[in-house]
Amino acid sequence: MSHPILQAEDVTKTFDGFRAINALNFYLFPGELRTVIGPNGAGKSTFFDLLTGRAKPDTGGIEYSPVPDTPATDLTKLNEYEIQRLGIGRKFQTPSVFAEHTVFTNLVLSLKGPRGVFASLFHRLDSAARDRLDALLKLVRLDDKRHWKAGLLSHGEKQWLEIGMLLASEPRVLLVDEPAAGMTDEETHRTGELLLSLAGKHSIVVVEHDMSFVKQISINGQVTVLHQGSVLCEGKFDDVQSHPKVREVYLGRGKN
Ligand code: ADP
Ligand code: MG
Repeated sequence: MSHPILQAEDVTKTFDGFRAINALNFYLFPGELRTVIGPNGAGKSTFFDLLTGRAKPDTGGIEYSPVPDTPATDLTKLNEYEIQRLGIGRKFQTPSVFAEHTVFTNLVLSLKGPRGVFASLFHRLDSAARDRLDALLKLVRLDDKRHWKAGLLSHGEKQWLEIGMLLASEPRVLLVDEPAAGMTDEETHRTGELLLSLAGKHSIVVVEHDMSFVKQISINGQVTVLHQGSVLCEGKFDDVQSHPKVREVYLGRGKN
């Protein structure tokens, strides 16, 4: 088995004595598309906060190993910006695109490193960057709306643009929080296809509530169930769904 690209071991995070994350162990392998589910308050967003440096664990280790056979990087010592620079990108639940800028400019501004801001200031992009942006626009199905102001896009399209912006920064690891929230069924399905197409090239963790979407994107992958800040169970969608404990704490309560 390959080495995890991202691992969290025995991680605990408390807020005023309340254990939002409790002795959590999590291993993400290169190219994986992992789905994380769990009831509200299970600790999913806090987990992303810890992986991205937005919050620091009280105890435990979080390590990033993008290159096999080289020493892992201790993420608990780094800030949000440093972690992002290492290739761990996060998409928050609410899209935050620049509404007054076009779709294309939003992508330019997200290009890796200072190149994006520089290029957009001087209206210059080399042909490689242009090709990359064209490919990204097609990937997120916004090529025919490249000149639209982002504020005019539908909610689903804004989510796709933001995924495109995340990809423009060339992350190895993508952390995606509830991408299907507020989308139509059709948009949700397309989002699933998009995420499936990104697996392999990227290592991806998706937090999601919509069970038909979870089923779609976990077709080849694993589902992790978080409950009270720990992993309750992990496995194929069907196994997780029929697990008695999972039914008890989550699915059985009529959530989606
Ligand atoms: P999820 O994303 O799974 O719904 P969260 O990670 O947002 O859950 O929250 C887990 C628990 O930690 C909740 O009980 C929440 O109230 C608590 N929590 C999260 N962030 C904070 C914070 N900054 N201060 C206090 N409590 C928090
Ligand atoms: Mg959350």
